[in-house]
Amino acid sequence: MRDYQKQRVYDWQNAIFNAVADTLPDIFVELPLEVGTRFAAKICEAYGIKPPKVVHHRYKDGLTAHYTRWNHTIVLPKNWAVCPKTIAHEAAHTVTDHLFGLGLAAHGKEFVTVYSNIMARFLYIDVDLINQITAEAGIDALNASPVPLRFKAAS
Ligand SMILES: [Zn+2]
Repeated sequence: MRDYQKQRVYDWQNAIFNAVADTLPDIFVELPLEVGTRFAAKICEAYGIKPPKVVHHRYKDGLTAHYTRWNHTIVLPKNWAVCPKTIAHEAAHTVTDHLFGLGLAAHGKEFVTVYSNIMARFLYIDVDLINQITAEAGIDALNASPVPLRFKAAS
């Protein structure tokens, strides 16, 4: 399915991150790859998904961060991409792929819902703030209030 709301989701995500830039500076900080890998594992395990590999792309320019399902790997182009906010985004793709399957818009309503849940649980972003910015962004989520997403209990 066409990735019809990709740009709007990027804008939505950036609006949320801008809103917490002063209060949650840690989510923008570059991590050692090993620490970033553990963070991705912790997120995925909370949804019953085995830890993905997290690697740098071997070509360092012109590539965005992404998740590839066939080898269960999050690829981060450069060191600056190894930060909680970017890992949360790619882990949201990982979790969405495993929970909802293939054939969906990459940044569709399932992704928005999972990502919102991860932002609240693992980046500690305020749920009301997420919901407010989501309502203003006019993007599709699984329900009007995207954060509550009841899967197996996190440890
Ligand atoms: Zn994405």
